[in-house]
This record gives sequence, structure tokens and C-alpha cells, in this order.
Amino acid sequence: MPTVCPTCDAQVVLPAGTELSEIISCPECQTQLAVKAVGDEPQVEPAPAIEEDWGE
Ligand SMILES: [Zn+2]
Repeated sequence: MPTVCPTCDAQVVLPAGTELSEIISCPECQTQLAVKAVGDEPQVEPAPAIEEDWGE
């Protein structure tokens, strides 16, 4: 079941076996999307920004 990217409205297909809280990338805009719901009505939302850690 595809859902829609909240950033660019592209159709995003969750890979089979995708689980809650998994991070996937939008195929159109490469935004990192956190999976909020799976099943018949999957939902994604932009993943929280990851703090850059350059390992100084
Ligand atoms: Zn997108």
C-alpha cells in the first residue's frame, strides 16, 4: 500500500516488512521519513533531524 510523502506529495511505497519507526527515504526528494503506521493505511512523517556528529 503506497502512502504519500508529506514533503513533496510523491507516492511512497513501503517495502514489504517495513516496521513502525523505520526510516525510509522518499524516492523523489530523498527526505528521511519515519514510518508512523503500517498495514492498509500506512503513514509516514518527516524523520526528526539527526544531529550531525562529526566525531571530533
Ligand atoms: Zn518526497
